[in-house]
Amino acid sequence: MKQLTKIVILMLPVIFFTWPGPLLSFNSNKPVKPISKTLQSADIVEAKRTLIARGDFNYPPFEYLDDNGEPQGFNVDIIKAVANVTGLQIRIILGPWENVRDQLEKSEIDLLIGMFKTEERMKKADFTIPHFISTYTIFTQKQSQIKSFKDLSGKKILVQSGDLGYDYVIEQNLDGRIIEKQDWAEMLKALNAGEGDAAIAAMLQGTMHIIKHNLNNVVPLTEPLIQRSYCIAVPKGEAALLATLNEGLNILKTTGEYDEIYEKWFGIYEERFSPARSLRIMIIVSVLLLLIIFAAYIWNWNLKKQVRIKTGELTKELEIKSRMQNQLEKAIESFDISRKEALKARYEAEEANEAKTRFLANISHELRTPLHGIIGISKLLETTPLNREQMDMMKMISTSAENLTGILSDLLDFSSIHSGKLTLRKSFFNLRSLIDTTAPVMKVMALEKNLKIIMETGESDPVINTDKERVGQILLNLFSNAVKYTDSGHVKVSIFHYDEKLEISVADTGVGIEPEYLDTIFEPFSRIENNTGTLNRGVGLGLSIVKSLVDLLNGEINVESRPGEGSRFIVFIPALSEKSETPDTEDAAEKTDLPEGTCSGINVLIVEDENINRLYLKKILSKKGCITDTALNGLEALNMIKTKEYNLILMDLTMPVMDGITATREIRIYEKNRQIQPVPVIALTAHAYPEDMERCREAGMDGYLSKPFQPSDLMKEIARVLDKVDKEGPF
Ligand code: ADP
Repeated sequence: MKQLTKIVILMLPVIFFTWPGPLLSFNSNKPVKPISKTLQSADIVEAKRTLIARGDFNYPPFEYLDDNGEPQGFNVDIIKAVANVTGLQIRIILGPWENVRDQLEKSEIDLLIGMFKTEERMKKADFTIPHFISTYTIFTQKQSQIKSFKDLSGKKILVQSGDLGYDYVIEQNLDGRIIEKQDWAEMLKALNAGEGDAAIAAMLQGTMHIIKHNLNNVVPLTEPLIQRSYCIAVPKGEAALLATLNEGLNILKTTGEYDEIYEKWFGIYEERFSPARSLRIMIIVSVLLLLIIFAAYIWNWNLKKQVRIKTGELTKELEIKSRMQNQLEKAIESFDISRKEALKARYEAEEANEAKTRFLANISHELRTPLHGIIGISKLLETTPLNREQMDMMKMISTSAENLTGILSDLLDFSSIHSGKLTLRKSFFNLRSLIDTTAPVMKVMALEKNLKIIMETGESDPVINTDKERVGQILLNLFSNAVKYTDSGHVKVSIFHYDEKLEISVADTGVGIEPEYLDTIFEPFSRIENNTGTLNRGVGLGLSIVKSLVDLLNGEINVESRPGEGSRFIVFIPALSEKSETPDTEDAAEKTDLPEGTCSGINVLIVEDENINRLYLKKILSKKGCITDTALNGLEALNMIKTKEYNLILMDLTMPVMDGITATREIRIYEKNRQIQPVPVIALTAHAYPEDMERCREAGMDGYLSKPFQPSDLMKEIARVLDKVDKEGPF
C-alpha cells in the first residue's frame, strides 16, 4: 500500500505539469471578461433552458453518486462552477457510462461532464479545453512478471467497458483476452482475486480503489501507459455551448476557483507536491533557515560577546592571579630574606652570646689568675710573723679578694646557665654532708655580722639523689643574701627531706622586700632601692642564678617578705631518696682529710707561666712533702719529662710557647711511643666551663681544678687522681 501511495504521489506532478492546453496557460494576467460579453450563445443563457449534463455514476473521485443518490465529484463541482460563472442552467444526471456516452453521441443530452479526448471520440463529439490530464498505467498482481505493456501479450486484460483503457487495448491490437468490467472497482477487485493478469486504469483512481478496498494483491506499474486530456464533451457541432464552457473553465482557472475544487478532490494526494505548497514550504523552510541563520548569527554573536566577556574576566583573573603570584613570590622572597635575616640575627645573637660567654670566661680567667695570686700570697703572708695591724690589713685583702671571687663566679655561673652550658651532676649523698659542707661557710658569714644562725634539720640522715654542689650553691646564695640584708637578729636555715623532695628555707630578720619588688627580684641584675634611696649591695645576679638552678633541678622557689620584718625564701627540689649505706664518691673524696706529708716524696712538675701562682703551688706542695719542679710553659714541661720521671704534673692551660692541652697531648704521644706509664696530669685553669673539662679529658688529662682554689681543694684533687686514676680512669 505504501508503494501505491508512493507511485500516486510520484505521478501527481506528472499529471499536473504535463497538463496541456489552456489550463496551463491560465494566468492571473489574463483579463477576466464579463460573462455577458464573453458569451457567444447568449440565446442559451437567455433561453433559460436547462441543459442536461450526464456523467458516469461510478467514476470517483471525478463523478459518482453519493449515498443519497446525489451526483458528486470533481467533474460535478467543475460543471456547477462553470454553470455559476456562465449563467448556464445545467442539470447533472449520472448513470452507467455506456448509456451516457451513447446518449451524447446521439445528441440526446447537452453535455458529458468528463470524457477523455481521443481521435476516435473527436469524430463523434466536441471537447472543451481539458480540465484534467489523466495518466493511465497497468495494474498487476504483486508477484506478476508483467513489467511493461508488451508483457501483456497473450494475457487476460481487465478493462472498464467503454473506458479509455479499453479503447487503448483495442487500438494497440493486443492479442490478449479482454475482460470487461462495469467499473474500475469491480475490475481491480477481480484482478486482486486473480481473475485476470493485468488491468488498465487511471493511475489516480486505480490507486484510490486499491486503498479504499484494501486490495493488497494489486500494484500499479510506475511507467505511465497513456496520458489523456479529460474534458467536457458536447455533441458534435455545439460550438456555442463549447465556447461558453471553455470560457467558464478559463474564468474558474483565472479566479482560482478551479484550484479550490482541485484542492478539494485531489489535494490530499498532491498536498506534498503542490508548487504553491512547495513554494510555501520553500518559503517557510527559507524563512526557517533564515531564522536559524539569524539565530545562529545572534547566538554566535552572543557567544563571541560572552567569550569576549569571559576572556576579559579570565584575563582580569589571570592578571589578579599573576599579581597575587608576584606578591606571593615577593612575600616568599621577603619571608626568605626575613628568615635569612632572622637566622643571621639568631646566628649573630648566638655568636654574640658565645662572644659574651668567651669574654666572661676570659675576663674571669684574667681576673681570677691575679686574684688567685692575691689570695694565695695573702694566705702565705698570714702564716708569716705580722703585727696586728698588718694582720688586719691582710684579712681585708683576703676578704675583698674572696668577695671579688664570689662576684666572678656569679658572673661565670650566670653566663654558663644562660648559654645552656651548665650541666647538672646528680649523685647520691647524705643530706647531712650537705649541711656539714655548707655550715662552716655560713657560720663564717654570720659571724661577720654578728648574726645568730638557727639550724633546723630532720633527725634522720637520708641518702638523696640530686646535684649536691648546685643545691649547696642555692643554699649559700640565699644565706649570703640573708646575711647581706640583715643587720641584726638571726638567720634561720631549715633543711628537710620528705615526700621525695628537699625543702630548704632561709629566713632572716632583715630589711625585708617591698611587695611591688617581689615579682622582679629573680630577674637578672635586679637591684632594689632601699629605704635610704640607694641601691642595695651586690650586682643583682644572686637570686637570678638561684632561680635558674632551681629550674634546672625541676624545683620551685617562693618568697615571703615583710618590709622591716624580714624575708623567707623557700625552695623545693625533687630528690629521690635511697636507703644506701655507701655515700657517693664525692663524699668520700670530701671526707678525705689529707694530713701533712701524705704525698711526701712524690715528684710534682708545676707547669705555670704566672710567677705568683707557681710560687703559691710550690709552697703548698712543699708543705705537703712533695718534691717540686717548675716549668714556664708546655714545651719546657715536655722536655723535662723526657729527662726526669714525675709522679704528677700540675698543668696550667693558658701559657705562652705551648699551651697545656698541646703539651699534655705531646706528653701522651711521647709516653705511648716509649711505652712508658702515663704520668697523671691535673689541669689548672680559670676556664670553669664544662667544655674546658672535656678538652682536658680529650687531651689525656686526669684531673681538673678551677682557679682560684683552696689548698684543700688541690690536695683533694691530687689524692683523687693519684688514688683513682689507675682504678677508674680520668675525672
Ligand atoms: P644582689 O647581688 O643585689 O643581692 P640578688 O639577685 O641576690 O642580687 O638579689 C636581688 C635583690 O633582692 C637584692 O638587691 C635585694 O634588694 C633583694 N633581696 C634578696 N635577698 C634579700 C633578703 N634576704 N632580704 C631582703 N632583700 C633581699
